Amino acid sequence: MMIGLKLDLTEHDLPEVYYSIQDYGSSTARWCPGCGDHAILTAVQKLCREEQLPPEKTVFVSGIGCSSRFPHYMKTYGFHGLHGRAFPVAEGVKFRRPDLDVFVITGDGDCASIGAGHWVHAIRYNMDMVVLLFDNEIYGLTKKQTSPTSPLGTRSNTHPSGSVLPPINPIQSTLGFANVSFVAQTVDWNPAHLFATIKKAHEHKGLSFVRIHQRCPIWMKDGFTNNVSDPDSIILLNHENGIELDPQVLNSFKNVVEHDPSNIDKAREWANTEGKFPIGLFYQNPEASCYDDYGAHNLHMPVSQKLEGMNNVLDRYAI
Ligand code: SF4
Repeated sequence: MMIGLKLDLTEHDLPEVYYSIQDYGSSTARWCPGCGDHAILTAVQKLCREEQLPPEKTVFVSGIGCSSRFPHYMKTYGFHGLHGRAFPVAEGVKFRRPDLDVFVITGDGDCASIGAGHWVHAIRYNMDMVVLLFDNEIYGLTKKQTSPTSPLGTRSNTHPSGSVLPPINPIQSTLGFANVSFVAQTVDWNPAHLFATIKKAHEHKGLSFVRIHQRCPIWMKDGFTNNVSDPDSIILLNHENGIELDPQVLNSFKNVVEHDPSNIDKAREWANTEGKFPIGLFYQNPEASCYDDYGAHNLHMPVSQKLEGMNNVLDRYAI
């Protein structure tokens, strides 16, 4: 329940309305025990509370897949749509309601397979929204088919002898799309880094693309076991303009490298790293054009004025 605080604001600089975590939580999440999606949901609800996002001004849009159940678990507006179609729905919402905070929740199959065309253009449109790619490297909802990010040789129901094509690297791909403005990577099993990354993404004006390595203990049992148990396998990209971490968290990483997120060539080099996992902010360009800046004109024009404008245009063609 929303808590209304009736305090004397002349003495205490407190808001009249304070949203607690409970104000953002809806029904009990029905993901499997141990699924990384739970940690991401917690991080997002924490962000909503920390930023005091009004639930009625916040929208979560998803496609299809385990991760796409996300809007059901948020007590905000939500749209659980069609497979691969989260991006155009979110763009439509943002185009006509630029005052809303829009989040896109998508999975590796949803984004990088059936939704790949929309993904390319969403990056190019660079509309002000946060995109969270839950990448578990498998189709989970439909019980273990090879996804576009499954590592080579993954045994699945579609490739019982092992997948035969090299996977798409979503960070590498996104850094190659026109007008890219924010690309970051994190993991579901480090709550501090996960939260700090989503927070940084939310602060960015433009489309923030965050790939989250997400555990699926049901269909990819050993998917990230080595990375979870061996901190040496993670490389933390650190910079004063990057993901802001508490010094204690920073010191918990064994491999920390300096990476300036304004350097796209270096970002691409880090995206190509093999054998180890780089996490952090790869690239940020706050100057990239945002398509929403060109579309949100005259939103409050009365209908009579719109009709008059249309009639003026049509009159030009009257015979
Ligand atoms: Fe999570 Fe995998 Fe279960 Fe889906 S199948 S809810 S991704 S653990």
